[in-house]
Amino acid sequence: MKTHARVVVIGGGVVGCSVLYHLTKLGWSDVMLIERSELTSGSTWHAAGGFHTLNGDTNMAALQGYTIRLYKELEAITGMSCGLHHVGGVTLADNAARFEMLKAERAKHRYMGLDTEILSPAEITKLTDGLVNVDGILGGLYDPLDGHLDPSGTTHAYAKAARMGGAEIVLHNRVLETNPTRDGWEVVTEKGTVHCEHLVNAGGLWAREIGAMAGIYLPLLPMAHQYLVTDDIPEIMDILKSGREFPHVMDPGGESPLHRFL
Ligand SMILES: Cc1cc2nc3c(=O)[nH]c(=O)nc-3n(C[C@H](O)[C@H](O)[C@H](O)COP(=O)(O)OP(=O)(O)OC[C@H]3O[C@@H](n4cnc5c(N)ncnc54)[C@H](O)[C@@H]3O)c2cc1C
Repeated sequence: MKTHARVVVIGGGVVGCSVLYHLTKLGWSDVMLIERSELTSGSTWHAAGGFHTLNGDTNMAALQGYTIRLYKELEAITGMSCGLHHVGGVTLADNAARFEMLKAERAKHRYMGLDTEILSPAEITKLTDGLVNVDGILGGLYDPLDGHLDPSGTTHAYAKAARMGGAEIVLHNRVLETNPTRDGWEVVTEKGTVHCEHLVNAGGLWAREIGAMAGIYLPLLPMAHQYLVTDDIPEIMDILKSGREFPHVMDPGGESPLHRFL
């Protein structure tokens, strides 16, 4: 492990590896990432990996659009698969206020060059092969760019692309202390001490603890993220066997995708 780097990134989840790749992409090759366990061993490995461009914040929507294009770039650079599936997705509106919000989003998307579309309940039924219960649904916003990917494969692709750009990644090495120095930081780890100009906290669930090492107390609170893993649903398996994919269905009013399935 080297003892000096221009930048040290703490945390080998999707965020840390993406930051590391982008630093090398911008020409900073003297950079390293330190992970206490394996890459993706934080929350990244069990993410569902869903992505979409719908976001109340225009800048976030533009950033999400950039990231979707970036996955293809990563696959081309590294030869690794990010497991990309552009299945499209529809966000449902079960009240007038939400439907207005989706229409306003559509208006924003038009000037951002995003090809989204407002769908009627009948069109949602057609899109989802009649499997989604549209009772009480006023309409939805369809985004053809919606999809899902493999979070672990994507993180490893970022890591490979960063290594190709000169970055060093050190695994099984917990950061114990971060101490400010006159010209940067001293990062004390289980495997020794590294000096750097810039320090990036990509600690995900542990970002609060890592911030506290530098005396910075961020008001962060990890929340439980719940998900259900079902058996195969025969109707959906039939669609997959026919070579098609089932679109994402987001039901922000119901907060559960399953109660909408017939
Ligand atoms: C069930 C589930 C489903 C999800 N679905 C989606 C989805 O569909 N779409 C989406 O965009 N997001 C989704 N997410 C959210 C997504 O997983 C996270 O936002 C993202 O993976 C966080 O990445 P991260 O790099 O910030 O953190 P993490 O992956 O948690 O990485 C932080 C890393 O820091 C390391 N670390 C901590 N302390 C230290 C230390 N002292 N020294 C060295 N290393 C340290 C940890 O070991 C860890 O590897 C989902 C999350 C869950 C749990």
